[in-house]
Amino acid sequence: MGSLEVVLSSIFDQMGVDYILPPPNSQRTIELGVKYGPEFACFPLKTTLGNFIEALEAGADTLIMVSGRGPCRFGYYAETQRRILEEAGYDFRMYMLEFEPERIPDLLRKLRELKQGRSFLSLARAIKFAFAKAVLVDRLEKKALAQRWMDREKGATTRALKECYRMIREADTYASLRKVEREAFQLLESVPKEAREPVRIGIVGEFYLVLEPYFNLQVEEQLGNLGAYVERSVYLTDWLRPTGNNPVGGHSDAESDEAARPFLTHFVGGEGIRSVGHTVLYQRMGFDGVVHVMPFTCMPETIAKSILPRVSKELGIPVLSIVIDEMTGRAGVATRLEAFVDLARHRRKAKMRGERPQPVPGLL
Ligand code: SF4
Repeated sequence: MGSLEVVLSSIFDQMGVDYILPPPNSQRTIELGVKYGPEFACFPLKTTLGNFIEALEAGADTLIMVSGRGPCRFGYYAETQRRILEEAGYDFRMYMLEFEPERIPDLLRKLRELKQGRSFLSLARAIKFAFAKAVLVDRLEKKALAQRWMDREKGATTRALKECYRMIREADTYASLRKVEREAFQLLESVPKEAREPVRIGIVGEFYLVLEPYFNLQVEEQLGNLGAYVERSVYLTDWLRPTGNNPVGGHSDAESDEAARPFLTHFVGGEGIRSVGHTVLYQRMGFDGVVHVMPFTCMPETIAKSILPRVSKELGIPVLSIVIDEMTGRAGVATRLEAFVDLARHRRKAKMRGERPQPVPGLL
């Protein structure tokens, strides 16, 4: 999931645990997930199943997956995937990590096996250090989102960001991480830029798709290349430390829930209510449009998608919902994003000229 590997590999490196990174996400990952996964399953179940198969093919003998319960299906991914992989004939052990209070003894037992003789104190230190890396990753991604639209050469910020990931991956002490922090921000800052007229777009949606560029069809990069200053509602640290008050993102869950209240009053699983709340917040901040990304059959985001046309109409902010699965074509999404940014820019110019912008037709 996006830059999560930078963080998780740090924990295993610090603990001296041997691990295998599956190959980068690709069309083959999707094909494997679709081949073995149930047709009706949400898209991330299939893609992570594809990741597991590629990791097993590369020699992994142990799989780790978070699980749990809740109003959406994520809690059942691990058990479903375990059964599918066993039926397909793969030989492996699977650790399903549940973070429910009553499952803590089971969680500790599994962590004891996974840490391979190292102390719980060294595990806690490794997690703390990895979290420091996650915060840095988020801050750098936020900076990249805010500057990509000014790139003199398209792709320059993305290349610099990839180099930043490499530097963070190599840092193995707090001192080296502080050095990387300075150098990484300098590197992003040094990307040649040119002044342009920006258009401001927010990204909301289901966390996995918001955070995973290959499967969201590089929506952030595409918007940046189209000249959009971008902010997004979800960061890696929202997921790693779900306190609901992430300073990197800039808006607490309570703030977002309050903003959503005229349209949706309760939690519907996943990020459903946050997608609505952040759309309202982006409108309040004067953004020119919101792109909503969601996996096909995602329950919380289907609810959000049914509410967003009202938000869009009543608050006068264009919203583009992109539903993604294995059938989604890159060219089609690129065309829709291009048209959407054009519309948002046109409305922005009309607003700046003091004209009353055309009402938005609800969801696009
Ligand atoms: S949030 Fe949506 S896509 Fe993710 S597990 Fe839940 S239902 Fe599936």
